[in-house]
Amino acid sequence: MSNGTNVLAFAESRLGNIRRASLETVTAARRVADQTGGQVHALIAGAPGIAVHAAKLAAHGADVVLVIEHDGFTHYNPEALAATLAARIATGYRAAFFAASAQGHDLVARTAATLGVSYASDVTEFVVDGNTVTVKHPGYTNKVIQAFSLTATPAIISLRAGAVLPMENAKAGAVEAITSAIDPASARVKVTATEPSGGAKLDLGEAPVIISGGRGLKEAANFFLVEDLAAAFGNAAVGATRAVTDDGWRPHSDQIGQTGRLVSPDLYVACGISGAIQHLAGMRTAKTIVAINKDREAPIFKVADYGIVGDVLQILPVLTEAVKQAKG
Ligand SMILES: Cc1cc2nc3c(=O)[nH]c(=O)nc-3n(C[C@H](O)[C@H](O)[C@H](O)COP(=O)(O)OP(=O)(O)OC[C@H]3O[C@@H](n4cnc5c(N)ncnc54)[C@H](O)[C@@H]3O)c2cc1C
Repeated sequence: MSNGTNVLAFAESRLGNIRRASLETVTAARRVADQTGGQVHALIAGAPGIAVHAAKLAAHGADVVLVIEHDGFTHYNPEALAATLAARIATGYRAAFFAASAQGHDLVARTAATLGVSYASDVTEFVVDGNTVTVKHPGYTNKVIQAFSLTATPAIISLRAGAVLPMENAKAGAVEAITSAIDPASARVKVTATEPSGGAKLDLGEAPVIISGGRGLKEAANFFLVEDLAAAFGNAAVGATRAVTDDGWRPHSDQIGQTGRLVSPDLYVACGISGAIQHLAGMRTAKTIVAINKDREAPIFKVADYGIVGDVLQILPVLTEAVKQAKG
């Protein structure tokens, strides 16, 4: 495989909407391309009309936007996308970035397998130093942060949501229409419908702020306190521990942790959450962690930047009021 200097970013979309993760992969690709002296090529696929997002990808640093518009990509088409991405990467890219989302986990594995190369998944940090890309990845349920040196080309990386802050850095974003490497209709796996979880709510992987609740809230009915605080922020999503989702207080799609969503928001507020290792595995990389717990010895305080010891049922309304005032 030739050793190019260009960097590919896969721009994830869902039902015609671009996902925040796309801006993160393009931003990451830009950072690497600025060091290799190459270009950023963002690849987006969707039903006709998806090209409308090219301007946003260009604004975040894409020199070229490779667009596939085809009805066969209305929903996620894993086989056709992986074949197309692998064929494109094989033309000679230094690195390729994917999101470590549900779709991204599937796609990066298929693409790397098609190319016959390894990849680094769920990466929270990366540094390019000469011919080596060093990446960090939380391992063993976050007990260790593993550092890997990727010396082979291309370096294929999936990025944890929030690991890279989308940055505007306008480039030409020349739109280049490309076609699928295989007939999208020939794929054996067919996604026939895509239903957004949680209605119109902000997705946990996209939200800069997450307010999360645990068993310390005592009962499902008290979750309105968590929702109120999220609403006061305006840009916050609501998360939960597994104890809470297992008890049916919240949908499983809200669960954060080892067996739930992996998130890295700017701010994570843990309300009545003990901080079990399996929960920390999903949120420890948040930029700032605030914990509210009545037990000053609760493990969550070991990872918290700010801790409030007290009754979450009394503290949440006060916090919500304070946020409203600060915003107002
Ligand atoms: C294989 C496996 C996978 C798992 N995956 C996950 C996962 O993905 N995500 C996850 O979250 N868990 C996961 N778990 C479960 C995990 O081990 C914990 O059981 C769970 O995270 C605990 O949830 P919690 O903090 O809500 O409840 P608890 O551990 O019961 O903690 C409740 C906390 O609330 C505090 N509290 C009580 N009352 C108040 C009050 N009035 N005010 C303030 N604080 C109060 C208590 O001091 C306590 O610290 C997994 C477990 C296993 C074995």
